[in-house]
Amino acid sequence: RFITFEGGEGAGKSTQIKLLAERLNAARIRTVLTREPGGSPGAEIMRHMILSGIGSLIGGPQAETLLFAAARDDHVHSVIEPALAQGSFVLCDRFSDSTRAYQGQMGEVPPALLNAMQRVTIGDLKPDLTIILDVPVEVGVKRARLRRGTTAPDRFEAESLDFHRRLREAYRQIAADEPQRCVLIDANAKVKTVAGKVWAAVQQRLLS
Ligand code: C5P
Repeated sequence: RFITFEGGEGAGKSTQIKLLAERLNAARIRTVLTREPGGSPGAEIMRHMILSGIGSLIGGPQAETLLFAAARDDHVHSVIEPALAQGSFVLCDRFSDSTRAYQGQMGEVPPALLNAMQRVTIGDLKPDLTIILDVPVEVGVKRARLRRGTTAPDRFEAESLDFHRRLREAYRQIAADEPQRCVLIDANAKVKTVAGKVWAAVQQRLLS
């Protein structure tokens, strides 16, 4: 079973995915927790290249997108597919919807490239369930700023509020387009409340 978590900055994905992993482990369900960009040793190096801005030395948005694709290819083949084949639940913090939402909204990468990249790296692999955490942009950006403290924002956190608004809309659209796979959860609430809704969705869709 493959579950992905999606949402904009400060939506609470990392917190919620950890809580879900704990619940699944407590239910004696073997669970692998991973993330994108990254998740495998090689892809983590590419993550660093992308987010630190080193990636911008390599080229423009297209080169950056290809780095994301290289990271995903490595991660899918060396971590996600083997874990699913062994019967584990795989929980992934961001996956292909991040590509659609972020690279799609950047507006500088031809959709044909994004589609080809998804086809090549993912093939038929599709999440069984995607949890989309939804928060008002001002709330998410503020949370991200608090979490970051005095360190500099990464390449995408530094984007404009308008970008984050379009991103939120993109995620809401994905949830509306694919209700079979996606659950949109209001994440502007207490951690425990959101965790309860995540668990309810997993139980209802995958464990019943
Ligand atoms: O979720 P996390 O904050 O760890 O993601 C790292 C960064 O990579 C985020 O700022 C996110 O906006 C960005 N990202 C992206 N395109 C993707 C995946 C992540 O721009 N496909």
